[in-house]
Amino acid sequence: MKKIILKAFGKINLTLDVQDRRPDGYHRLSTVFRGIHLFDLISLEKKEEGLTLEADRKDLPQGPGNLAYDAALLMMEKFPQISGVHIRIIKKIPVMAGLAGGSADAAAALTGLNLLYELGLSRETLEAFASELGSDVAFCLYPLAALGEGRGEILTPVDPGPMLWMVLAKPSFALSTAEIYLHYDQMNAALATHPNARNMILGLENQDLGEIYRAMGNALEYPVFKIYPYLAQWGRDFRRMGAEAVLMAGSGPTLAAFAREEEQARMLASHMKRAEGWTVLLTRSLTEEDLNRSMIYLGEASVEENPIEDIEGEE
Ligand code: ATP
Repeated sequence: MKKIILKAFGKINLTLDVQDRRPDGYHRLSTVFRGIHLFDLISLEKKEEGLTLEADRKDLPQGPGNLAYDAALLMMEKFPQISGVHIRIIKKIPVMAGLAGGSADAAAALTGLNLLYELGLSRETLEAFASELGSDVAFCLYPLAALGEGRGEILTPVDPGPMLWMVLAKPSFALSTAEIYLHYDQMNAALATHPNARNMILGLENQDLGEIYRAMGNALEYPVFKIYPYLAQWGRDFRRMGAEAVLMAGSGPTLAAFAREEEQARMLASHMKRAEGWTVLLTRSLTEEDLNRSMIYLGEASVEENPIEDIEGEE
């Protein structure tokens, strides 16, 4: 039976502004998404019938509720020619960390089934399916750089800008996106940072790191730092250790500390590793070439898969 193996890349939000709440309960967002070279591995293998899933993290749903499973189910409902599929997930993207790990896996399931079953679906069609699954899934289909509006699913590609080296630091706890929005609603939104996506887009177009650092901001830092003030303190400490800028990833709690060069990022990572209880990962922004090489394998399932060794670009 045929099988496909894909990299499912995570993202950060270089800017994340939360605007008003829509009648359907979702917040209107304006965000500049940027894909990162930190990925899960997803394998999809054809089978005679049924849908099964196996993830190497046992605290994740191994069936319904896993976003990759839900994405595959949606495809099977729409396309009866998909007889069956077995999904395997090797997680490298921290869970509930603001890095869109679940959305990335869902996007990989959509892309993978399109290729595995030669459905020939356009990016627009896949984006429409993605929006049914979650706000970040559409971006994760082609996670280079985009302005996200609406719930984050209305995408306009933007210049990916210069290479961004960053160290991701995740404290030992996880945060639920829904809960953070709830806290945001209970606070005075006027006190939060409201970054301007246009300034970021200009900084990216001008390849100007200084302008990019200045334009960074995340409105959700406000509720998260209120609940966990020591996160803000760590942000200041990471700056003292040499970070050019520090930004919370998505709905947190991961902090992204930026460096101008790979060497500087490596030094920063080694300093940050001294912070007890943090998971520290070195990564960089994604390139078009990374995306063009995101399919690791497409062929008969009997071929030995060796995905772990393929994982690079992080510490
Ligand atoms: P975002 O940045 O999009 O808000 P996140 O990084 O904060 O996402 P995820 O890691 O995507 O959060 O996980 C959010 C929830 O989704 C968790 O409750 C997790 O159990 C669930 N989930 C379902 N499928 C997956 C998956 N394949 N990988 C990770 N989490 C998953």
